[in-house]
Amino acid sequence: MQGPRPTEPPDRPPSERIVEALAGIVGADRVLTEATDRAPYETDWRGKYHGRCLAVVQPGSNAEVAKVVAYCSRHGVPIVPQGGNTGLCAGATPDDSGTQIVLTLQRLRQLRSLDAEDGHITCGAGMPLAEAQAHAEAAGMLLPLSIASEGTATIGGVVSTNAGGLNVLHYGSARQLLLGIEAVLPDGSVVSRLTPLRKDNTGYDLTSLLAGSEGTLGIVTAATLSLSPRPVGYTTFLAGLADVGQARATLRAVRTLTASPVTSWELFSEVSAELLVTPPMATTLPLEGPHAWYLLGELSHFGEPADILDDLAEILVEHDIEDVVVATSAQQRADLWAIREDITEAERAAGPTIKHDISVAPSQIDSFIETLLAACRDLDDTIRLNIFGHVGDGNLHINVLPRERGQELPEADQARVSTCIYDLTRDAGGSFSAEHGIGQQKIAQMARYKSGAEIGMMRRLKASLDPTGIMNPGKVLP
Ligand SMILES: Cc1cc2nc3c(=O)[nH]c(=O)nc-3n(C[C@H](O)[C@H](O)[C@H](O)COP(=O)(O)OP(=O)(O)OC[C@H]3O[C@@H](n4cnc5c(N)ncnc54)[C@H](O)[C@@H]3O)c2cc1C
Repeated sequence: MQGPRPTEPPDRPPSERIVEALAGIVGADRVLTEATDRAPYETDWRGKYHGRCLAVVQPGSNAEVAKVVAYCSRHGVPIVPQGGNTGLCAGATPDDSGTQIVLTLQRLRQLRSLDAEDGHITCGAGMPLAEAQAHAEAAGMLLPLSIASEGTATIGGVVSTNAGGLNVLHYGSARQLLLGIEAVLPDGSVVSRLTPLRKDNTGYDLTSLLAGSEGTLGIVTAATLSLSPRPVGYTTFLAGLADVGQARATLRAVRTLTASPVTSWELFSEVSAELLVTPPMATTLPLEGPHAWYLLGELSHFGEPADILDDLAEILVEHDIEDVVVATSAQQRADLWAIREDITEAERAAGPTIKHDISVAPSQIDSFIETLLAACRDLDDTIRLNIFGHVGDGNLHINVLPRERGQELPEADQARVSTCIYDLTRDAGGSFSAEHGIGQQKIAQMARYKSGAEIGMMRRLKASLDPTGIMNPGKVLP
């Protein structure tokens, strides 16, 4: 595989000197060195990856971030940027060497500006996504990026992972919503491009380059995101399906039904439904029967609310979908969404799972699922797959459950199943990581499925910005 590797870092001072110097920048109480204080920052959301860092550093401004990074760059101290720590690939978890610092952006949570007329919001990187959404709502606008972890995930995190979520079908993922960025580069210099411009073809697109770079090219300290007009109403429904093909075919039909865009088209399987109703979860599915698959669809209405229910019902019946509930109030809509959003939490309660976050062309989704289910059955008919996700985007989470609740699948079985799922995804022309990124979890897949030319180009970019490799080492690049 081509591309330069990091050069030798400069001589590193003893740990106490590093801690002292960092305390001189951010204040002694903002450098956490006690094991109990560090612990929440050293484990990923799933509790699967654990590390041990030298210290957790909590800068309070972008100037402090720049000083910390400049110091680390001069002295070869590796930095792991962290936002809300909800990432699902352990990109924000340090290694266990005790030499890295975790740099948390959580104190950078100020609203810098909001312009309802031009439709943009600029926030500090540490602002939780839900808080940014609330600011937009208060101004009568919509920040359409929506993920189930939005109460904790931060603006810096969603930009750095190019998060997707529930509304990508119509509004795009974080990179599409990102207009401008402020970032500290690995040498401590600051790039400030907090522009609200929607058209700006002046050289390389640095904003897009940093989006999705998972803290390996720089630290995002603020971002300007595009806002949209708020819908005046929604049509939201939950339906039981016999097969995935019904989800694909109905999306095509519903899209031509009205000028109101389909903003979400979410699928989950009977296994997801079972997890949702099993304690400690207490979900009630408001449908008559159990089904092989479930579809949560939503159209957003702008201007005059469209009366589309009869036409929608006709399309569903034409596609043999008869068990359907349509939300008739804001509360019912929220209840339907809670079902979908609780799936990840319900899965976590079942014990350690092996997660896959794949995408294929939406038109291939049902044939892909059929092939996948048959292949996994042939491989091991005792495993169960919790399949759910953003079917309208061709993005599904295919998570392998333990045979017994709470028990982990043996490592050899994990590897066999994952390789089977990823190879089939590649054969279908798909991606082994649709929206969660690479982190440290999918390094092996980068090596297996990305071309040498792509890895080589990524390494050259990385080496030119971060020659000593201090920025989130061990993540993204094999
Ligand atoms: C219940 C649940 C549901 C989820 N649903 C979705 C979903 O639908 N779609 C989706 O895409 N993801 C989803 N996720 C994954 C996760 O929430 C996203 O990846 C999110 O963008 C991570 O944000 P964070 O602030 O928690 O980042 P962290 O987990 O702290 O970090 C993630 C990565 O970004 C880097 N990073 C964080 N902040 C910065 C910064 N300021 N500058 C540079 N690098 C930084 C870290 O080093 C790490 O590599 C879900 C997670 C959970 C737990």
